[in-house]
Amino acid sequence: MWQVIGQTRVVSLLQRSLERESVAHAYLFIGPPHVGKMTLALNLAQALNCPATERPCGECASCQKIASANHADVQVIGLTRNGDSAEAKLRAEIGIDQIRQMQHSASLPPFEGKYKIFIIEGAELLSTEAANCLLKTLEEPIGKVVFILLTTNDRLLPATVVSRCQRLELSPLPAAEVEAALNSRWGIESPKAKLLSRLSHGCLGWALSAAFDDGLLQQRAEKMDRLLDILHADYEERFAYATQLAAQFTQDRRSVQEVLDLWLDYWRDLLLVKIGCSDIITNVNRLAMLVEMAKSYRLAQIKAFINSIQVAGEQLRQNANPRLVLEVLMLDMPGKEGRSEGNLAMRL
Ligand SMILES: [Zn+2]
Repeated sequence: MWQVIGQTRVVSLLQRSLERESVAHAYLFIGPPHVGKMTLALNLAQALNCPATERPCGECASCQKIASANHADVQVIGLTRNGDSAEAKLRAEIGIDQIRQMQHSASLPPFEGKYKIFIIEGAELLSTEAANCLLKTLEEPIGKVVFILLTTNDRLLPATVVSRCQRLELSPLPAAEVEAALNSRWGIESPKAKLLSRLSHGCLGWALSAAFDDGLLQQRAEKMDRLLDILHADYEERFAYATQLAAQFTQDRRSVQEVLDLWLDYWRDLLLVKIGCSDIITNVNRLAMLVEMAKSYRLAQIKAFINSIQVAGEQLRQNANPRLVLEVLMLDMPGKEGRSEGNLAMRL
């Protein structure tokens, strides 16, 4: 039984190739973080090595060893995470030594299973040398060896590597499907299941992490409260916040993108409430506040600020000066009806 939830198209395609014994020697699974790429890769590794007729059975010794990361023929290659400093994380890449070790291991026959499987997590982080080295292996397939590359963005991988793999895209699940899975498989009831399904944007892995680690929801709530404080703050405070975020950006880019994503979620919700579609908002736990806030803004203001957040995100990705980008964003942020313009006029 495939453990991965949803992804029916991709699963049935893999299932058919297993039945026809026409498994590709390299796959590339593409999808947003926590969408289920690793779960699917491990499921495929189980299916390839499972002796049962209905593969993967999930119950045989081989399936269980793979599930608990104890199978000698299934290896996960990725960033070494322990003890890395923030700076190291920024530069972090999968180096050529890791790929060479993998190639050596791939040249040996399977130890206990039918296939050797190498899962490369975060394949976009392969260094140029490592990617070139891997390319040689992909160009000369080895029997009974399958490589599964996982990435959030295949455009960050050399086209030559992508072209040697069977490319499979995993999509986020509909919120209702995430909610149903949380409920039926993990016994998480609404309203928590509903909230997690919305906040996860269809990425079940995130919903599950948040379900069993209250800290994640807590951190999200704290960041969101900070954003709402800023909304009511004067320009001095907003600019101080921009400076703080810009400093944070030089240490950890992703955390600042996450802040912008939170903001985007919130303003999208305001837009939905404003146009009367509050049943599809993300922040279901803040509906009352959203309804109240939506009264204070015009639709055009909300749309304009959503656009400003998107522009800021894009400029940061293109390495614009983070402080300038974030200060402009703070200026673009609408105050409550009539307030922002008045304030600014007084200051100018
Ligand atoms: Zn099995």
